[in-house]
Amino acid sequence: MIIKNVRVLGGEPVDIRVADGLIAEIAPGLAGDGEVVDGGGAVVLPGLVDLHTHLREPGREDAETVQTGTQSAARGGYTAVHAMANTSPVADTAGVVEQVWRLGREHGHCDVQPVGAVTVGLEGRHLAELGAMADSAARVRVFSDDGKCVSDAVLMRRALEYVKAFDGVVAQHAQEPRLTESAQMNEGVVSGRLGLTGWPAVAEEAVIARDCLLAAHVGSRLHVCHVSTAGSVEILRWAKSKGWNVTAEVTPHHLLLTDELVEDSPVGAYNPIYKVNPPLRTRADVEALRVALADGTIDVVATDHAPHPVEDKETEWSAAAMGMVGLETALSVVQEAMVDTGLLDWAGVAERMSAAPARIGRLPGHGQPIEVGAPANLTLYDPSARTPVEPAAFASKSRNTPYEGMTLPGRVVATFLRGRPTVLEGKLT
Ligand SMILES: [Zn+2]
Repeated sequence: MIIKNVRVLGGEPVDIRVADGLIAEIAPGLAGDGEVVDGGGAVVLPGLVDLHTHLREPGREDAETVQTGTQSAARGGYTAVHAMANTSPVADTAGVVEQVWRLGREHGHCDVQPVGAVTVGLEGRHLAELGAMADSAARVRVFSDDGKCVSDAVLMRRALEYVKAFDGVVAQHAQEPRLTESAQMNEGVVSGRLGLTGWPAVAEEAVIARDCLLAAHVGSRLHVCHVSTAGSVEILRWAKSKGWNVTAEVTPHHLLLTDELVEDSPVGAYNPIYKVNPPLRTRADVEALRVALADGTIDVVATDHAPHPVEDKETEWSAAAMGMVGLETALSVVQEAMVDTGLLDWAGVAERMSAAPARIGRLPGHGQPIEVGAPANLTLYDPSARTPVEPAAFASKSRNTPYEGMTLPGRVVATFLRGRPTVLEGKLT
């Protein structure tokens, strides 16, 4: 197959020949028989890799399945996703992670790499069978109780020590539970005006600071999920300046949206579409997160794709579930927040949405440079398109996007997984 007229990381137009799932040739004016895909001048990126996806299967197939979640991922330009462990049953044994891994092999429109729970049942009391999950067919390397914080310092220390044996990483959802009891939104001026219980920045920052110190103390790898505050950025900058093995991610929504939307938005006040954990923060936090992603203090953009059925979101604010879908809009939001603002070029996007997440997750075959001999995991993206966000068109089973009605830049034109198209002309194959 030849993919004609694409611009690798936004460079000069070339053609890419794909054979046996690998990139066989990159040059202008390639010819030959076989299938031809016209790239139309699209930017080509290495297939995107998400470090933080909730696929909901097993247990909440009404919200998402491995099939629909990976279809959503493919439409967003992803060729691999890490499936979070807070399923039902929880992915805290070799058996459950192998089940998710097998579902990915059978029904996946991208590769599915299971994340293992840190503690049994996400209950924060006993370490899960980390070694058995690492040794399983799913070869788990990322462990997380995401949705909940591993708040016990002794358990967190043990987990960090344990994963060293197989080069794993503990991905922490940093949220001090006592400081965030019944929290509804960011603690600040807006929560004060609205009379909603606040989720203070310090509840995130205190856990990140502690965990950076623990990771340094035991010489292990820590990854911080969905960083949301300017103070967290300062702590990460300090930890990295020490040379500690700490990485971090930010979500697209924390790069674009603020807590003011809870009070005043195109869809009214108190609309739970904006309810998410960690909460949307202030404009100053958004600015600090953008700068940190640009300068490498934050390594990765991860979606925290969190599908919820309508009945769990379209209810009163206090009762609504927390979370947003994100796979199908991530690249467009990153273009709006980072590329169109001049903070990142396409090489920078490729590093933060493909290479770095694959490296942190120790995921072979993904996140490699676009060069001859590499697996043909490719995303074709047209940054000049303007796409109104239509939730009804999502491949995801859920519709809880905060971008409904907005027009975002760019469009995923095609996605290739080991040379096989999963999306062509914006549509699932
Ligand atoms: Zn989380």
